[in-house]
Amino acid sequence: MLNMMKTLTACRGISGYEKGVSDKLLMMISPLTDRTWVDPMGSLLALKKGTAPEGERRKIMLCAHMDEIGFLVTFIDDNGFVRVTPIGGINFIAASYATVTFGNGTKGVLVPETGTAPADIKADKVYVDIGAKDKKEAERKVKVGDFCALEGSLTRLCGRRVAGRPMDDRIGCAVLVRIAQLLGETPCRDDVYFVFSVQEEVGLRGARTAAFGISPDIGLVYDVTGTGDSIGAKPMACSVGGGAAIKLKDSSVICDRALAEELAGVAKEKGMKYQFEILAAGGTDTASIQMSGAGVRVGALSIPTRYIHSGTEVLDLNDAEACAALTVAWLTREEKSGGNGTDAEAGAEAE
Ligand SMILES: [Zn+2]
Repeated sequence: MLNMMKTLTACRGISGYEKGVSDKLLMMISPLTDRTWVDPMGSLLALKKGTAPEGERRKIMLCAHMDEIGFLVTFIDDNGFVRVTPIGGINFIAASYATVTFGNGTKGVLVPETGTAPADIKADKVYVDIGAKDKKEAERKVKVGDFCALEGSLTRLCGRRVAGRPMDDRIGCAVLVRIAQLLGETPCRDDVYFVFSVQEEVGLRGARTAAFGISPDIGLVYDVTGTGDSIGAKPMACSVGGGAAIKLKDSSVICDRALAEELAGVAKEKGMKYQFEILAAGGTDTASIQMSGAGVRVGALSIPTRYIHSGTEVLDLNDAEACAALTVAWLTREEKSGGNGTDAEAGAEAE
């Protein structure tokens, strides 16, 4: 998992420009699955066929987003300073004076205009200094429409904790690859679709079309979630190192409760660490999948992460491993008769 994260945090791919991440993930996932393809929006999909006879296999969609927050170049001034517009919810105060990397490898520093009060550091008050002496030199390196993002990093902390970026949501992508690896050892009856979605950070977009294309019976999303365990954090019963966080709700979705309980039941039975997640603010692809087609039963296994959308996010790789292990235990659990027993139960409960 650590090596995978080193590779995935080293590539830059802001919303709409995920190709670099997609290419890396394709190399990781294709040997582990039966078929891979890229949909028209750019999401990477892979299918691992189940062992049950045709017609008895459910379609399970597992989804994590490839894109990260970043910037697009809007203007280069006469002095060679580069103005940018944000893509996704960037915390400009946290990102100030951080190194940014452009798609072609050019580096720069994101700087607030001198004298700007911290509260006023917004998109129109920052620029990127790439060290160019004038507009001409800057334009040889960067042009309007190019993207850049805060430089990727990964640092090991105590135990299996790591700091860096973008954990959101390369850690979810790594969990999907880990699940595919584990399913190689323990096959499952159902068809499992791995979806590495695009454009999550700008409105949960890629997951919507991918889900429409698959029309899954169940969708599970893997993404970071906030925690209540750092100094000054809002009270929240979710902590780094507390295990897989089974989402009940965020501001975009109310998850299928029966599915969440089922996941918790499997975790309990197997003695796996888990916690429930109720996230006050923030949305995930879970919502897009839920509302695709005629509606889909959805859940999410989140990786508790501190300082989300800042320049450095902190998480525990054991929590990510727990998300993968719980998913595989759920997918391969014995009491499942295949077919649609759980769907019928959920229908009955809904009445
Ligand atoms: Zn995310």
